[in-house]
Amino acid sequence: MNVILLGPPGCGKGTQGAVLAERTGTSRIGTGDLLREAVRTKTPLGLRAQDFMEKGLLVPDEIILGLIQEVLNTDKASKGLIMDGFPRTVAQAEAVDHLLASRDTGIDHVLCFDVPKDELVRRMQGRAEAEGRNDDNPEAFRKRLEVYLKQTAPLVEHYEQRDLVTNIHGLGSVDEVAARVQEALEV
Ligand code: AMP
Repeated sequence: MNVILLGPPGCGKGTQGAVLAERTGTSRIGTGDLLREAVRTKTPLGLRAQDFMEKGLLVPDEIILGLIQEVLNTDKASKGLIMDGFPRTVAQAEAVDHLLASRDTGIDHVLCFDVPKDELVRRMQGRAEAEGRNDDNPEAFRKRLEVYLKQTAPLVEHYEQRDLVTNIHGLGSVDEVAARVQEALEV
């Protein structure tokens, strides 16, 4: 089962992706996590990505496409993948389709998490204190929301045309949202 998690920053993709992966024996892979690790360890990828991330901008496709290829070619991918934070652009979506097709598999579901903006801001503030991410500040967060609406939200329509999208109401406790995810995927 290959699932894409879509939604604005703070909508719960990471948390729900982890719960879902645990439940279904699949792997959650988040490009944001991989990039933060690359920044922390100062790899060439991290050094190229850092500035974009701090500003709340997307890391350009030409940098990210290699990372996506690596992710989809890992052994972990063979049992099914929960894709958290990618694809984020149409070019990335096309690359994901192409790479999955070359492994005789494809996207089974796209979950789109819906959370009102004031709640997203509230969660970002909580996470800023808990995790100290340097893109969880008001300015970068505003940019991330804007970038989501402009560059990533169009993917919802792209996948709706293929009848893959289920909208998930993202307010409530982790368990409540997880129950909605399970119901949508019948897992
Ligand atoms: P996230 O943890 O998914 O919110 O990602 C944090 C930051 O990493 C984003 O604001 C982007 O700068 C960068 N990033 C993560 N995934 C991608 C992606 N698929 N394409 C471009 N940039 C990404």
